[in-house]
Amino acid sequence: MTLSVKAQENGSPEVRISPLEPEFLSKQLSWSAAFYMHPEATVIVDLSGKIIGCNQSYMELCGCHSGDELLGQSITRFIKEDEYSRVIETLNGNKSRIAGLEVNFSAVDGRKILVEVSASFVKDSNEEPVGVILAVKDITERKSLIERLLQEKRMFDILMDSIPDAIYFKDANSRFIKINKPKALRMGLKSPDEAIGKTDFDFYHEDFAREAYEDEQRIMRTKEPLIGKVEEVKGRDGRVRWVSATKIPILDENGRVVGLVGISRDITDLKLMEKKLEHACMELKERVEELQRIRRELERSNRELENYTYVVSHDLKTPLRAIRSFISFLLEDYGDKLEGEGLEYLRRIDAAAARMNEFIEDLLLLSRVGRKFMEVERVDLNELLDEIVQDLKPIIESKKAKVIVSKLPVLYIQRVWIKQLFTNLVDNGLKFNKSEVPTVEVSCEETPSKYIFRVRDNGIGIREEHLGRLFNLFERLHSGEEYEGTGAGLAICKKIVEGWGGKIWAESVFGKGSTFSFTIPKKYGRCEG
Ligand code: ADP
Repeated sequence: MTLSVKAQENGSPEVRISPLEPEFLSKQLSWSAAFYMHPEATVIVDLSGKIIGCNQSYMELCGCHSGDELLGQSITRFIKEDEYSRVIETLNGNKSRIAGLEVNFSAVDGRKILVEVSASFVKDSNEEPVGVILAVKDITERKSLIERLLQEKRMFDILMDSIPDAIYFKDANSRFIKINKPKALRMGLKSPDEAIGKTDFDFYHEDFAREAYEDEQRIMRTKEPLIGKVEEVKGRDGRVRWVSATKIPILDENGRVVGLVGISRDITDLKLMEKKLEHACMELKERVEELQRIRRELERSNRELENYTYVVSHDLKTPLRAIRSFISFLLEDYGDKLEGEGLEYLRRIDAAAARMNEFIEDLLLLSRVGRKFMEVERVDLNELLDEIVQDLKPIIESKKAKVIVSKLPVLYIQRVWIKQLFTNLVDNGLKFNKSEVPTVEVSCEETPSKYIFRVRDNGIGIREEHLGRLFNLFERLHSGEEYEGTGAGLAICKKIVEGWGGKIWAESVFGKGSTFSFTIPKKYGRCEG
């Protein structure tokens, strides 16, 4: 059979055959038409590189409208000489066919197109090459698509490996398809590729691997992702780490599950911290409970002590009253029979008994403060201070003193105790005062959380080193001869103020005067206080 190819005027190859073979003729005709219409740009050149035939697609690739423009032209007009030489050399190098050779192609209008060339020799009946047939494929789009895909893959790889979280892809059988570097590092692998095809059972403790496998199979069965599951990961060496694991099924375009992607964040440090915190919380709770127990115990023993003090002081009053009565009987009935030292001793016994009575009264008062049987009532402190000034009139007048009261609030509080508190402080301010005009000023400052009351005097003052012990029970800085009193007043004040959750303190400049301040929580300024 002879096949010779000759270019026709329109550029399509003409196949010469013997007229005596009609069957063959029809075959050749259909071959010729197929060649011309073939979507792949094809060109046939003779051995000198001159174009002797091409199809429609090739004309379009070159940007020509008819084959005339191309026939007889050298192929090197479209493919650079050195590149075409490479094609021929490769064909000669005992490869009669080449495929997928990337070549730069120049169209008639100057367009530069990246093409892939497949070529083979056209041979005569003696198997001698008479020309070359080249199929030329425009791969510009494919190339840029591949470039785009490569770029995306590079970005994906950077993302995978620069995130500190472990990321992995698994197939439907929970076998690793791809893992990132942090995951490989956690698994003790030199390279992520070492994990491919393996499962968690190859790297982790069986218990953990089984649980992970069951989770993953369920996720892929139900298509329900698993978000942030806190897992205790046990390595084969028994080492434990904590991770927060998220696993999401991967579906193909038909919605069929083909695998899953997992991200796990190492939260071991966080977990250890949480454990420490839990431990510290437990300890704190135990300590608080212990403190509460001690407080309850203290409260109980304080109450007991208060009751005891109350009962004792109360019970002491009766015999003391009897002693004092008998002393007065003695003085009345036998006073004239006693003389000198005897009478003096009796008077001293009476004075001591009177003093003892004062102490007992104060003790009773102090123990009453702790007993919460006083009703809360509305107390306008301005009115209360007027009342106190009236009560203290004898001392005020005798000392020609002044009590100056600024505007004070209304409190909802135990009236008896607030009166006792102010009375003690104002009384002290007048008592421990040798100024020409003893002056006591009462004022109040409000903050969002409390009232701060101040009772200031221009009295004798207190040495700094004594300020700390002023509020102790029966603590006196001065003798009874100089200033009368028992030393219980400030202890009573402290107990009253602290009973309301406030604080009391003193500031003083020795020889100039003192300021006693105390706070009362703001809640006592409201009706429900
Ligand atoms: P008392 O007034 O019965 O002595 P207090 O408990 O009221 O007892 O006071 C204790 C002591 O604190 C007083 O004896 C006195 O020495 C000192 N003190 C109290 N208030 C003042 C004051 N305003 N100025 C100077 N000293 C004071």
